[in-house]
Amino acid sequence: MTHHVTTIDCDYAGRPGVAAAYLIQQDDQAIFVETNTSRAVPRLLGALAQRGLGPGDVDHVIVTHAHLDHAGGAGALMAACPGATLWAHPRAAPHLIDPRKLIDSARGVYGEAFDALYGEIVPIDPARVRTPGDGETLAWGRRILTFLHTRGHANHHLCVLDTSSGDIFTGDSFGIVYPALQDRGLFAFPSTSPTGFDAAAATASVDRIVATGARTAWPTHFGPQTQLEGIATQLRRQLEAHGALVEEADAQGLQGEVLRTWCAEEVRALFDAQIHRAGLQDHPGIELLALDIELNAQGIASAVQRRRHKRRQGAG
Ligand SMILES: [Zn+2]
Repeated sequence: MTHHVTTIDCDYAGRPGVAAAYLIQQDDQAIFVETNTSRAVPRLLGALAQRGLGPGDVDHVIVTHAHLDHAGGAGALMAACPGATLWAHPRAAPHLIDPRKLIDSARGVYGEAFDALYGEIVPIDPARVRTPGDGETLAWGRRILTFLHTRGHANHHLCVLDTSSGDIFTGDSFGIVYPALQDRGLFAFPSTSPTGFDAAAATASVDRIVATGARTAWPTHFGPQTQLEGIATQLRRQLEAHGALVEEADAQGLQGEVLRTWCAEEVRALFDAQIHRAGLQDHPGIELLALDIELNAQGIASAVQRRRHKRRQGAG
Protein backbone atom coordinates (compact mmCIF):
# COMPACT_ATOMS: atom_id res chain seq x y z
CA MET A 1 0.00 0.00 0.00
CA THR A 2 2.29 2.69 -1.27
CA HIS A 3 1.37 6.31 -1.60
CA HIS A 4 4.18 8.69 -2.41
CA VAL A 5 4.68 12.07 -4.05
CA THR A 6 7.99 12.80 -5.80
CA THR A 7 9.12 16.36 -6.54
CA ILE A 8 10.89 16.38 -9.91
CA ASP A 9 13.20 19.34 -10.49
CA CYS A 10 12.74 20.14 -14.19
CA ASP A 11 15.83 22.37 -14.33
CA TYR A 12 13.71 24.88 -16.24
CA ALA A 13 15.81 27.25 -18.37
CA GLY A 14 18.86 25.57 -16.87
CA ARG A 15 17.99 26.76 -13.37
CA PRO A 16 17.53 24.26 -10.51
CA GLY A 17 14.86 24.76 -7.84
CA VAL A 18 12.63 26.89 -10.08
CA ALA A 19 10.00 24.65 -11.70
CA ALA A 20 8.75 21.24 -10.56
CA ALA A 21 6.59 18.45 -11.86
CA TYR A 22 5.04 16.00 -9.40
CA LEU A 23 4.74 12.24 -9.61
CA ILE A 24 2.02 10.67 -7.45
CA GLN A 25 2.43 6.95 -6.94
CA GLN A 26 -0.24 4.63 -5.60
CA ASP A 27 0.99 1.03 -5.53
CA ASP A 28 1.95 0.34 -9.18
CA GLN A 29 -0.01 3.22 -10.69
CA ALA A 30 1.12 6.77 -11.34
CA ILE A 31 -0.12 10.28 -12.07
CA PHE A 32 1.95 13.23 -13.22
CA VAL A 33 0.86 16.69 -12.13
CA GLU A 34 2.50 19.23 -14.47
CA THR A 35 4.85 18.28 -17.28
CA ASN A 36 7.14 21.32 -17.61
CA THR A 37 8.47 21.48 -21.20
CA SER A 38 9.22 18.77 -23.77
CA ARG A 39 12.85 19.16 -22.65
CA ALA A 40 11.88 17.83 -19.20
CA VAL A 41 10.10 14.67 -20.37
CA PRO A 42 13.23 12.43 -20.04
CA ARG A 43 13.54 13.63 -16.42
CA LEU A 44 9.89 12.79 -15.76
CA LEU A 45 10.31 9.29 -17.20
CA GLY A 46 13.53 8.91 -15.21
CA ALA A 47 11.69 9.73 -11.97
CA LEU A 48 9.10 7.11 -12.90
CA ALA A 49 11.82 4.49 -13.41
CA GLN A 50 13.37 5.39 -10.05
CA ARG A 51 10.06 4.52 -8.39
CA GLY A 52 10.12 1.14 -10.19
CA LEU A 53 7.43 2.17 -12.68
CA GLY A 54 7.24 2.46 -16.47
CA PRO A 55 5.33 4.66 -18.94
CA GLY A 56 2.57 2.02 -19.15
CA ASP A 57 1.81 2.56 -15.44
CA VAL A 58 0.87 6.23 -15.93
CA ASP A 59 -2.93 6.51 -15.71
CA HIS A 60 -3.28 10.29 -15.81
CA VAL A 61 -1.39 13.45 -16.68
CA ILE A 62 -2.86 16.58 -15.07
CA VAL A 63 -1.79 20.12 -15.96
CA THR A 64 -2.93 23.07 -13.82
CA HIS A 65 -2.96 25.49 -16.78
CA ALA A 66 -1.61 25.92 -20.29
CA HIS A 67 1.48 28.07 -19.56
CA LEU A 68 4.46 26.32 -21.10
CA ASP A 69 6.46 25.79 -17.90
CA HIS A 70 3.46 23.72 -16.73
CA ALA A 71 2.06 22.09 -19.86
CA GLY A 72 4.60 22.57 -22.69
CA GLY A 73 5.67 18.92 -22.41
CA ALA A 74 2.15 17.48 -22.09
CA GLY A 75 1.98 16.26 -25.70
CA ALA A 76 5.43 14.65 -25.59
CA LEU A 77 4.65 13.00 -22.25
CA MET A 78 1.27 11.73 -23.52
CA ALA A 79 3.04 10.26 -26.56
CA ALA A 80 5.42 8.42 -24.21
CA CYS A 81 2.63 7.14 -21.92
CA PRO A 82 0.15 5.32 -24.17
CA GLY A 83 -2.43 4.53 -21.46
CA ALA A 84 -2.63 8.00 -19.95
CA THR A 85 -5.57 10.42 -19.96
CA LEU A 86 -4.87 14.16 -19.92
CA TRP A 87 -6.86 16.39 -17.54
CA ALA A 88 -6.92 20.15 -18.10
CA HIS A 89 -9.23 23.11 -17.51
CA PRO A 90 -11.90 23.39 -20.25
CA ARG A 91 -10.31 26.68 -21.41
CA ALA A 92 -6.77 25.22 -21.41
CA ALA A 93 -7.49 21.93 -23.20
CA PRO A 94 -8.14 23.38 -26.71
CA HIS A 95 -4.64 24.93 -26.67
CA LEU A 96 -3.04 21.61 -25.73
CA ILE A 97 -4.97 19.70 -28.41
CA ASP A 98 -3.94 22.31 -31.00
CA PRO A 99 -0.88 24.14 -29.64
CA ARG A 100 -0.32 26.51 -32.59
CA LYS A 101 -1.54 29.58 -30.65
CA LEU A 102 0.64 28.70 -27.66
CA ILE A 103 3.66 28.31 -29.91
CA ASP A 104 3.02 31.60 -31.73
CA SER A 105 2.59 33.64 -28.56
CA ALA A 106 5.63 32.06 -26.86
CA ARG A 107 7.75 32.63 -29.98
CA GLY A 108 6.65 36.27 -29.82
CA VAL A 109 7.93 36.55 -26.24
CA TYR A 110 11.05 34.37 -26.43
CA GLY A 111 12.10 34.67 -30.08
CA GLU A 112 15.25 32.72 -30.92
CA ALA A 113 15.43 31.24 -27.41
CA PHE A 114 12.11 29.41 -27.93
CA ASP A 115 13.48 26.14 -29.33
CA ALA A 116 16.21 25.75 -26.71
CA LEU A 117 13.75 26.49 -23.92
CA TYR A 118 10.69 24.51 -25.03
CA GLY A 119 11.65 22.07 -27.78
CA GLU A 120 8.82 20.70 -29.88
CA ILE A 121 5.27 21.22 -28.60
CA VAL A 122 3.32 18.11 -29.56
CA PRO A 123 -0.48 18.15 -30.17
CA ILE A 124 -2.67 15.75 -28.18
CA ASP A 125 -5.45 13.48 -29.51
CA PRO A 126 -8.71 15.04 -28.23
CA ALA A 127 -10.07 11.55 -27.49
CA ARG A 128 -7.48 11.29 -24.68
CA VAL A 129 -8.39 14.62 -23.04
CA ARG A 130 -10.84 15.27 -20.17
CA THR A 131 -11.96 18.74 -19.11
CA PRO A 132 -13.26 18.57 -15.52
CA GLY A 133 -15.76 21.14 -14.26
CA ASP A 134 -15.27 22.95 -10.95
CA GLY A 135 -15.63 20.44 -8.12
CA GLU A 136 -15.54 17.42 -10.44
CA THR A 137 -13.77 14.36 -9.07
CA LEU A 138 -11.52 11.64 -10.41
CA ALA A 139 -11.63 8.26 -8.66
CA TRP A 140 -8.17 6.70 -8.81
CA GLY A 141 -7.68 3.43 -6.94
CA ARG A 142 -8.41 4.16 -3.26
CA ARG A 143 -8.13 7.92 -3.75
CA ILE A 144 -10.48 10.61 -4.93
CA LEU A 145 -8.98 13.70 -6.54
CA THR A 146 -11.07 16.88 -6.78
CA PHE A 147 -10.51 19.58 -9.40
CA LEU A 148 -11.01 23.16 -8.26
CA HIS A 149 -11.18 25.96 -10.80
CA THR A 150 -8.98 28.72 -9.42
CA ARG A 151 -8.96 31.91 -11.52
CA GLY A 152 -6.70 34.89 -10.88
CA HIS A 153 -3.27 33.92 -12.20
CA ALA A 154 -4.96 32.72 -15.39
CA ASN A 155 -8.60 32.16 -16.32
CA HIS A 156 -7.84 28.57 -17.38
CA HIS A 157 -6.33 27.37 -14.09
CA LEU A 158 -7.28 24.48 -11.83
CA CYS A 159 -5.92 22.91 -8.64
CA VAL A 160 -5.99 19.24 -7.66
CA LEU A 161 -7.05 18.33 -4.12
CA ASP A 162 -6.43 14.92 -2.57
CA THR A 163 -8.56 15.02 0.60
CA SER A 164 -7.37 11.64 1.89
CA SER A 165 -3.72 12.73 2.02
CA GLY A 166 -4.32 16.46 2.65
CA ASP A 167 -2.35 17.44 -0.46
CA ILE A 168 -3.29 20.20 -2.87
CA PHE A 169 -1.39 20.78 -6.13
CA THR A 170 -1.70 24.50 -6.67
CA GLY A 171 0.09 25.32 -9.95
CA ASP A 172 0.51 29.11 -9.86
CA SER A 173 -2.63 29.81 -7.73
CA PHE A 174 -0.85 29.71 -4.38
CA GLY A 175 2.15 31.80 -5.29
CA ILE A 176 5.81 31.13 -5.84
CA VAL A 177 7.97 29.90 -2.94
CA TYR A 178 11.56 29.38 -4.11
CA PRO A 179 13.49 27.02 -1.79
CA ALA A 180 16.68 29.09 -2.29
CA LEU A 181 15.06 32.11 -0.60
CA GLN A 182 13.53 30.49 2.51
CA ASP A 183 16.60 30.38 4.78
CA ARG A 184 15.77 33.69 6.51
CA GLY A 185 12.06 32.94 6.95
CA LEU A 186 9.11 32.44 4.67
CA PHE A 187 9.17 34.39 1.38
CA ALA A 188 6.19 33.89 -0.96
CA PHE A 189 4.86 36.10 -3.73
CA PRO A 190 2.15 35.90 -6.40
CA SER A 191 2.76 35.50 -10.12
CA THR A 192 0.75 38.16 -11.98
CA SER A 193 2.27 37.29 -15.38
CA PRO A 194 0.37 38.04 -18.66
CA THR A 195 -2.34 37.76 -19.83
CA GLY A 196 -5.09 36.76 -17.42
CA PHE A 197 -4.20 38.36 -14.07
CA ASP A 198 -7.18 39.34 -11.90
CA ALA A 199 -6.27 40.40 -8.34
CA ALA A 200 -9.71 39.85 -6.77
CA ALA A 201 -10.08 36.39 -8.35
CA ALA A 202 -6.51 35.49 -7.33
CA THR A 203 -7.21 36.44 -3.71
CA ALA A 204 -10.44 34.42 -3.72
CA SER A 205 -8.44 31.43 -5.02
CA VAL A 206 -5.87 31.78 -2.21
CA ASP A 207 -8.71 31.88 0.33
CA ARG A 208 -10.35 28.85 -1.27
CA ILE A 209 -7.12 26.83 -1.19
CA VAL A 210 -6.65 27.56 2.55
CA ALA A 211 -10.33 26.74 3.20
CA THR A 212 -9.90 23.21 1.78
CA GLY A 213 -8.04 22.40 5.01
CA ALA A 214 -5.19 20.84 3.02
CA ARG A 215 -2.06 20.27 5.08
CA THR A 216 0.46 20.46 2.25
CA ALA A 217 0.40 22.75 -0.78
CA TRP A 218 2.51 21.77 -3.80
CA PRO A 219 3.10 24.94 -5.86
CA THR A 220 4.86 24.29 -9.16
CA HIS A 221 7.46 26.86 -8.11
CA PHE A 222 8.56 24.98 -5.96
CA GLY A 223 8.14 21.92 -3.73
CA PRO A 224 5.93 20.96 -0.76
CA GLN A 225 4.82 23.73 1.62
CA THR A 226 3.19 23.28 5.02
CA GLN A 227 2.91 26.92 6.17
CA LEU A 228 -0.31 27.56 4.28
CA GLU A 229 -1.55 30.41 6.51
CA GLY A 230 1.82 32.19 6.38
CA ILE A 231 2.00 31.93 2.60
CA ALA A 232 -1.62 33.11 2.25
CA THR A 233 -0.92 36.20 4.38
CA GLN A 234 2.01 37.24 2.16
CA LEU A 235 0.06 36.54 -1.03
CA ARG A 236 -3.03 38.52 0.05
CA ARG A 237 -0.88 41.56 0.84
CA GLN A 238 1.03 41.42 -2.46
CA LEU A 239 -2.08 40.67 -4.53
CA GLU A 240 -3.81 43.70 -3.02
CA ALA A 241 -0.77 45.85 -3.87
CA HIS A 242 -0.54 44.50 -7.44
CA GLY A 243 -4.29 45.01 -7.87
CA ALA A 244 -3.96 48.63 -6.68
CA LEU A 245 -1.35 49.22 -9.40
CA VAL A 246 -3.84 48.10 -12.07
CA GLU A 247 -6.42 50.57 -10.68
CA GLU A 248 -3.93 53.42 -10.45
CA ALA A 249 -2.41 52.97 -13.93
CA ASP A 250 -5.90 52.78 -15.37
CA ALA A 251 -7.08 55.90 -13.47
CA GLN A 252 -4.00 57.85 -14.59
CA GLY A 253 -4.69 56.89 -18.21
CA LEU A 254 -1.14 55.56 -18.73
CA GLN A 255 -0.54 54.08 -22.20
CA GLY A 256 2.07 52.25 -24.24
CA GLU A 257 5.72 52.68 -23.27
CA VAL A 258 4.86 55.05 -20.39
CA LEU A 259 2.54 52.40 -18.95
CA ARG A 260 5.15 49.66 -19.31
CA THR A 261 7.90 51.72 -17.66
CA TRP A 262 5.60 52.80 -14.83
CA CYS A 263 4.58 49.16 -14.15
CA ALA A 264 8.21 48.03 -14.16
CA GLU A 265 9.18 50.69 -11.61
CA GLU A 266 6.16 50.19 -9.35
CA VAL A 267 6.38 46.38 -9.30
CA ARG A 268 10.12 46.65 -8.61
CA ALA A 269 9.27 48.91 -5.63
CA LEU A 270 6.69 46.41 -4.32
CA PHE A 271 9.24 43.62 -4.44
CA ASP A 272 11.98 45.80 -2.91
CA ALA A 273 9.69 46.56 0.04
CA GLN A 274 8.92 42.87 0.57
CA ILE A 275 12.60 41.93 0.18
CA HIS A 276 13.46 44.50 2.87
CA ARG A 277 10.75 43.29 5.25
CA ALA A 278 12.15 39.76 4.85
CA GLY A 279 15.76 40.95 5.37
CA LEU A 280 16.77 39.52 1.99
CA GLN A 281 18.34 42.64 0.41
CA ASP A 282 21.87 41.16 0.65
CA HIS A 283 20.77 37.56 -0.02
CA PRO A 284 23.06 35.85 -2.56
CA GLY A 285 20.08 34.28 -4.37
CA ILE A 286 18.02 37.44 -4.75
CA GLU A 287 18.66 37.77 -8.53
CA LEU A 288 16.46 34.69 -8.90
CA LEU A 289 13.52 37.13 -8.66
CA ALA A 290 14.53 39.32 -11.63
CA LEU A 291 12.51 37.45 -14.25
CA ASP A 292 9.42 37.18 -12.02
CA ILE A 293 9.53 40.92 -11.30
CA GLU A 294 9.67 41.60 -15.05
CA LEU A 295 6.82 39.16 -15.79
CA ASN A 296 4.65 40.57 -12.99
CA ALA A 297 5.15 44.08 -14.40
CA GLN A 298 4.14 42.88 -17.89
CA GLY A 299 1.08 41.21 -16.35
CA ILE A 300 -0.03 44.43 -14.64
CA ALA A 301 0.28 46.37 -17.92
CA SER A 302 -1.67 43.63 -19.70
CA ALA A 303 -4.42 43.72 -17.02
CA VAL A 304 -4.78 47.50 -17.47
CA GLN A 305 -5.20 47.06 -21.23
CA ARG A 306 -7.69 44.22 -20.80
CA ARG A 307 -9.77 46.29 -18.37
CA ARG A 308 -9.98 49.14 -20.93
CA HIS A 309 -10.83 46.72 -23.71
CA LYS A 310 -13.70 45.30 -21.63
CA ARG A 311 -14.94 48.80 -20.82
CA ARG A 312 -14.95 49.73 -24.53
CA GLN A 313 -16.84 46.55 -25.35
CA GLY A 314 -19.31 47.34 -22.57
CA ALA A 315 -19.79 50.87 -23.88
CA GLY A 316 -20.17 49.69 -27.47
ZN1 LIG B 1 1.43 30.31 -15.08
